[in-house]
Amino acid sequence: MKHIEKKAPPRSFTEHIPSSGKWAEFSRTRKKHTKQYMLEQEQNHLCCYCEKNIKGADAHIEHIRPKRDYPELTFEYSNLLVSCQGTHCSPDEEDTTVYICGHKKDSNFDEDLFLDPSQLRDISAYFEFDDNGGISPSAKDPIKASYMINLLQLNEPQLAQSRENVAKGIRINLMKAGANPASRQKLKTILANESQDFISFLRHYFNPIVS
Ligand SMILES: [Zn+2]
Repeated sequence: MKHIEKKAPPRSFTEHIPSSGKWAEFSRTRKKHTKQYMLEQEQNHLCCYCEKNIKGADAHIEHIRPKRDYPELTFEYSNLLVSCQGTHCSPDEEDTTVYICGHKKDSNFDEDLFLDPSQLRDISAYFEFDDNGGISPSAKDPIKASYMINLLQLNEPQLAQSRENVAKGIRINLMKAGANPASRQKLKTILANESQDFISFLRHYFNPIVS
């Protein structure tokens, strides 16, 4: 997870908040615009929790503090992030089971344990990775980090596998190119790309090579 710097809300959001205060009455078009704005302007197109690179259609607006228990924050812009849908959606299967991230979290939220990526500049320091794509709590605050990993299922096997696969794909390409200054520079470019899938994991995985 990495820090998300919230900006001022877009007018397509602020000017169309329904007077009822009900999320269901905020139009699909406005939700789409808001989601797109947040992905482009604040999140570098990455899911706020798992860091998968997502398009608007694969994503939803996530209420950090759930609407059910914090109805007054339903349209509080600082309470909104964009999360992936959390399914294993490969085009050829219609598995709608939710495995990870915002929909998995649902209305669960513990004020004392939740690590909010929009508030904590050093949120990535709460987590560590192994080389197989697994995530675990760092020594910083293992209780809170464990809560988050469990709440969002950040060690779900297919997610961990996806992280490992992205790293392996990059490694194979680099090996093909050979160990030379050009491939080293290419790797540095990948690690500097804030829109790169699973960037925190990749930095863990490859930083020992480039630094
Ligand atoms: Zn996600």
